[in-house]
Amino acid sequence: MIQVTADPTRCVGAGQCVLAEPSVFDQNEDDGTVIVLDNAPTDEQTISQVRQAIHLCPSRALALAEQPAPARTDAPRAPAGDDAGGAAP
Ligand code: SF4
Repeated sequence: MIQVTADPTRCVGAGQCVLAEPSVFDQNEDDGTVIVLDNAPTDEQTISQVRQAIHLCPSRALALAEQPAPARTDAPRAPAGDDAGGAAP
């Protein structure tokens, strides 16, 4: 899972992010600073465009954090002592 963040205090309103991915970024109508519309996109194409926006942003106001998937609590566990890895004798 990824998380998109933007720092409007760094943003200079260049709009490159909106051009790169308008489904994730917009600009404040008053001062043109960035607004994040979707901070957790899941579509790979969209995420790729977000990376492009981060690359293009002249003020480095954008960031993308990769968060590990939450641990599954319903996953079956290997029986105790089941060393399927084949450790050397
Ligand atoms: S590209 Fe960067 S500076 Fe331009 S509007 Fe987006 S966040 Fe702001």
